[in-house]
Amino acid sequence: MNKDIATPVRTRAILEKYGFSFKKSLGQNFLIDTNILRKIVEFADMSENTGAIEVGPGIGALTEQLARSSKKVVSFEIDQRLLPILNDTLADYKNVTIIHKDILEADVRAVMEEEFHEIDDIMVVANLPYYVTTPIIMKLLEEHLPIRGIVVMLQKEVADRISAKPGTKDYGSLSIAVQYYTKAETVMIVPKTVFVPQPNVDSAVIRLTVREKPAVIVKDEKFFFTVTKASFAQRRKTLLNNLTSQLPSGKEKKEEILQALEKSGIEPSRRGETLSLDEFGRLSDELYPYFH
Ligand code: SAM
Repeated sequence: MNKDIATPVRTRAILEKYGFSFKKSLGQNFLIDTNILRKIVEFADMSENTGAIEVGPGIGALTEQLARSSKKVVSFEIDQRLLPILNDTLADYKNVTIIHKDILEADVRAVMEEEFHEIDDIMVVANLPYYVTTPIIMKLLEEHLPIRGIVVMLQKEVADRISAKPGTKDYGSLSIAVQYYTKAETVMIVPKTVFVPQPNVDSAVIRLTVREKPAVIVKDEKFFFTVTKASFAQRRKTLLNNLTSQLPSGKEKKEEILQALEKSGIEPSRRGETLSLDEFGRLSDELYPYFH
């Protein structure tokens, strides 16, 4: 087996060989601890029949571990300067395809169809660039891609919000958006010392297991998310206040909003952060006819 990329010595040697300088604006914090990488890969529970999608391979530290544990890896990298480096560090892995593209601009479904025919178990595994964590996760989920799940490193603070339960301070529209599509768990807290350069914030790994059906079945998905976002617009306000001030023509429709709250069995004086996904589902279905 090749020498691991993710050691302080090997990483430094690679960076020096290519005179690579980190771009903070691209969230470049590379992992230099092979044990952490192996654990991330274990959480993804892959086999020789699994396809892996990676966002941001950097110099290939995680890519190499994924290549060893899966059938094929397709990895999106935005920074052109890393392409010749990856060509070198991953030369021995024939099951890796690097795509030079911003993941947020990429047609991931088309790439999956092109690269993963004959593979039906697909996981997204990445050490995400922290400046775009949420847009990346939401893009992957909202596009209803045929993936089994997502295992990613991200800011601990975002991991806390994603996996938060109702009634806690971290629970909000992001928790609901992600838990609507997936079962979300924080599986590991990671110290700053395993990165170069070290990030300013603490990190965690989350595992999102895509649900066969969404957590609640609603009349209109888009409207459900409009209602949840509106409900958290100002956290200290009551549900009634947030809904009247945030929903289109909400002030004129106060009576209808009160009726919908009553029909769904939810006290108007409650705060958004106390509602479960089921309750938000009921509420958005009762509100729906008044707003369409
Ligand atoms: N996987 C490597 C590791 O664990 O050492 C690098 C992870 S580093 C936190 C994030 C990587 O994502 C960098 O290589 C960065 O250039 C890349 N990146 C940043 N924004 C991106 C985007 N929008 N699309 C694809 N890659 C991106």
